[in-house]
Amino acid sequence: MIYPIVKYGDPVLETQAATVDTFDTPDLHKLIEDMFESMYAARGVGLAAPQIGISKRIAVIDCSNGERPQEKIVIINPEIIKVEGGQSSEEGCLSIPGFRENVTRGKRVTVRAQDVKGDWFEMTGEDLLARAFQHETDHLNGSLYINHVSVLKRDLIKRKIRKLAKAGEWS
Ligand SMILES: [Zn+2]
Repeated sequence: MIYPIVKYGDPVLETQAATVDTFDTPDLHKLIEDMFESMYAARGVGLAAPQIGISKRIAVIDCSNGERPQEKIVIINPEIIKVEGGQSSEEGCLSIPGFRENVTRGKRVTVRAQDVKGDWFEMTGEDLLARAFQHETDHLNGSLYINHVSVLKRDLIKRKIRKLAKAGEWS
């Protein structure tokens, strides 16, 4: 099932998502399958559950855009445990369509998370994957990438979104 993507302005995107404590259930498997499907339909490389209106600490990532199944990553209750180096490039978000900004992130990032069965694992990613780990973990903490740009740029984006909303072009 493809869920519509929740857009900026919905409070679910700025709410700390709830810890997952039940694993390996048919519901959880189905939700994760639906999250991948929704992410591919929206042409994203990462999707956090709050972006489909579900305030739980679950995110899916696939930097290959569905090309390589072994690159499908599920992180549940993730924590960033190590950040090394830095990288700066354009970042966007499915919940803030039409906008992209330069964001500085760690270059090499290690995440600790649970898999669908509840087993803990650690994974280190570089470049785009490192960016995705940070972007998606932020989502689960109720934070968006625009919190990493200057106040000036952030206000400009918010103003443009308010205009779009007034025109009925943001929902
Ligand atoms: Zn996002």
